[in-house]
Amino acid sequence: MPRRYIYGPFPSRRLGLSLGINILFNYKICTYNCVYCEIGLTKKENLVSPKCRIKNSPTLNFRKELVSILKYIPHLNSLSFTGYYGEPTLNENLLNFYTITLDVRKEMKWTSEPPLITLFTNSSTLYSDEIRERVKHFDLVLAKLDVANDDDFKRTNRPHKTAPNIETIIEDLAKLKKEMPTGHKLAIQCLIFNSNKKEFISNNTPKNINDLAYALKKIKPDIVQVYSIARMPANYFVFSIDDKRKQEIVNTFRDVIKDNDVYVRYY
Ligand code: SF4
Repeated sequence: MPRRYIYGPFPSRRLGLSLGINILFNYKICTYNCVYCEIGLTKKENLVSPKCRIKNSPTLNFRKELVSILKYIPHLNSLSFTGYYGEPTLNENLLNFYTITLDVRKEMKWTSEPPLITLFTNSSTLYSDEIRERVKHFDLVLAKLDVANDDDFKRTNRPHKTAPNIETIIEDLAKLKKEMPTGHKLAIQCLIFNSNKKEFISNNTPKNINDLAYALKKIKPDIVQVYSIARMPANYFVFSIDDKRKQEIVNTFRDVIKDNDVYVRYY
């Protein structure tokens, strides 16, 4: 049976052994067109509003696929609803997929701890109470925040014109953190990159890093993950920052956040 929903498993530096779950289509549909996106540019017709709702519901094959693969990987660390084909929270049946995944996790035998059920989001839809309500079920939410001012937001993430502004997104993330049940974790992922093109300012500037540090202080996530480009970016003129710069950014974040409950590190 060809796989429709599941890909991997693959080793992830941040999650351990991770199995990818795609609840969208087999092409990219997203509210952003990030300059560094590793799955290429978002086509104009597939750059959608955060109000857009996709109605893909899980077929019986979803459970079958999960069970058929999971029996071979009892040492799995994460069942990951990824952004591999775009923004998963656009699917209004997110919770149906989650519930089946949770059931299957309960049924299976695991070598040690059962895998976390993890959700990746680009944060653009979190203004919606309904979507935050769904998102907070996940054990671990990995939410994107690469920028903390609107100029950098427009350059880096190139959002759909109806996307909220960055101030609203930061408030939504702070709200989500407060609403998440005890034991569930919010990780903020900050992808920082350089630019080879003089006229294109990257998000690796003292202003953006400083703005981000204050945004993180406001959100108070459990985890902050600083990382950079690891594969071919959508626009060839952006490239990875090095580990020395990642460490400097981590230090700036720690100095501003000043909170031992917020675990900041780079990958
Ligand atoms: S949010 Fe994720 S999938 Fe969408 S364009 Fe950005 S990197 Fe690509």
